[in-house]
Amino acid sequence: MNILLLGSGGREHALAWKISQDKLCSSLFIAPGNAGTSAFGTNVAIGVNDFESQKKFCKENKIQMLVVGPEEPLVKGAYDYFAGEDIMVVGPSQFGAQLEGSKAFSKKFMQRHNIPTAGYAEFTSENFEEGKKYIASHSLPIVLKADGLAAGKGVVISNTHEEALDVFEEMIVNRQFGDASSKVVIEQFLTGIEISVFVLTDGADYKIIGHAKDYKRIGEGDTGLNTGGMGCVSPVPFADEAFMQKVEETIIKPTINGFAKENIVYKGFVFFGLIKVGDEPFVIEYNCRMGDPETEVVMPRLKNSLVELFVALHNNTLKNIVIDFDNRACCTVVAVSGGYPGDYEKNKVITGLDGSFDKNTIVFHAGTKQAENGVVTNGGRVLAVSSYGENIKEAVERSEEALKKINFEGIYYRKDIGFEFE
Ligand code: ATP
Repeated sequence: MNILLLGSGGREHALAWKISQDKLCSSLFIAPGNAGTSAFGTNVAIGVNDFESQKKFCKENKIQMLVVGPEEPLVKGAYDYFAGEDIMVVGPSQFGAQLEGSKAFSKKFMQRHNIPTAGYAEFTSENFEEGKKYIASHSLPIVLKADGLAAGKGVVISNTHEEALDVFEEMIVNRQFGDASSKVVIEQFLTGIEISVFVLTDGADYKIIGHAKDYKRIGEGDTGLNTGGMGCVSPVPFADEAFMQKVEETIIKPTINGFAKENIVYKGFVFFGLIKVGDEPFVIEYNCRMGDPETEVVMPRLKNSLVELFVALHNNTLKNIVIDFDNRACCTVVAVSGGYPGDYEKNKVITGLDGSFDKNTIVFHAGTKQAENGVVTNGGRVLAVSSYGENIKEAVERSEEALKKINFEGIYYRKDIGFEFE
């Protein structure tokens, strides 16, 4: 089968690594890809939102499957754009992608299906004054979320009412995130530990394909600014059978049943961003694609053929597949450009990538590109170094060993990924 994968991050490198090993895959193309993905397929210079060029490419290259990595094309309707073509698209319809594209949509969906989540209210410019009163009498801390996609920057947790009111005004009146903040969701703050659970669904059946815990803060000990993710571990020790049973019964099943009841067309990944409060799981957010860097630990632990799972989404045969995991732990440590998540420079030559790494280590590229003088940095998050281990500590140590052999000007990575599980 000829497959086109959209995206250019560590997530797509991990998907390309997995798909290219699949006996069902004859040719893999990645649009636009990065310096790492070209080892597993052919990079194609087409943007992730350029549906027209993608369709033309698919026709010319007899593409039978389109795997959409990032959320933006899904929220913009990639699935619907390819409807009627003889191409299996892995992802939700544009309507289903609102689960990620609109926080108000996802909160209402959860409410309709009694899925545990933080209490909330939504406001626009029309009930702005009411929103101010709501904030003034709300318990602290208070969570404000721009409704639409805001590149992970649209959520603010305020410890004072004054700050919350300023943020609210900034979002609604000054349109801080444009249309994305014309509506704001105000939410109760939940205290607990976060975990992400990943599912593949055809809109009626589902399979859990893994779970992971990520480390979002730039600094060791979970301090400093939020990032796209500095590392990840899987499996998560506290996600025992009893907890995962609760996740399945109270969250996953009602969500998938909700798709079926509401006729939501969905043939792809659901990323459940959860928080464990006491012993109970609550949904913080839904994403309609895999996470990055979570994919870099979930894919190495998934033993099944991913392409077979994707085909099953379209043949409605998902229920016949038994998911098989590698029992080892897998962790990833992300190396970033100096200055990230603030300003940083690009085009720094990366050395050591050809080094001999432990056979349990895989170096995934994120923000990299091939230049005349070698592979250079091309983003904030540059590499995600994943390793297997008998336990989390061993896996993290292997990734850190590999990172000692790699260098670029300004390289930084956290040396405490998985610290609480040692
Ligand atoms: P991202 O794309 O970065 O995952 P996002 O912009 O889609 O994030 P959310 O995932 O909803 O937004 O929130 C970002 C982070 O804010 C969460 O991972 C969590 O740490 C924190 N957060 C969000 N909602 C709550 C809540 N109700 N209580 C406590 N913390 C919360």
